[in-house]
Amino acid sequence: MDGIRLRGHHLLCLLGYRGMGYSPEYVENMTAIHNRLRVTPQTPVMLVGGVDDLCDKFPLSQEYHCEDDNVNERDHMILEYLGIQRGDMLPWRNIQSQLATVFHPSDINVLCPTCSWRKYGVCAEGIQAIRDGQGLPKIP
Ligand code: SF4
Repeated sequence: MDGIRLRGHHLLCLLGYRGMGYSPEYVENMTAIHNRLRVTPQTPVMLVGGVDDLCDKFPLSQEYHCEDDNVNERDHMILEYLGIQRGDMLPWRNIQSQLATVFHPSDINVLCPTCSWRKYGVCAEGIQAIRDGQGLPKIP
């Protein structure tokens, strides 16, 4: 089975994903990845630096930020906290378990100060959910 390529900060974005996104194509792709990880948590995930399988569908019509320094720094910081290296391949369930151990809901304010999605509170809720053993939520 093919793995999914993800960058560091998208591990947390997936916890907060509720079906909102940058375009219909972006949402379709992210929902498919989110569902695959939720239904098949043994899915292998390859940690990459820079653009990943979510960035691939970022719409050309919007301001591109996927290679900005502050985004790369966020990836680096999150992987460092997790003790995971770029190039590592792990089952999603192991990554989720590590996320639940390492991060607390309030960490989103420190990790993602410039992100426009932070204000919705869903990413912090997503961390709490996995800490409570709930896993990823079903996307309607
Ligand atoms: S605040 Fe933004 S970057 Fe941080 S986890 Fe949420 S969506 Fe991702």
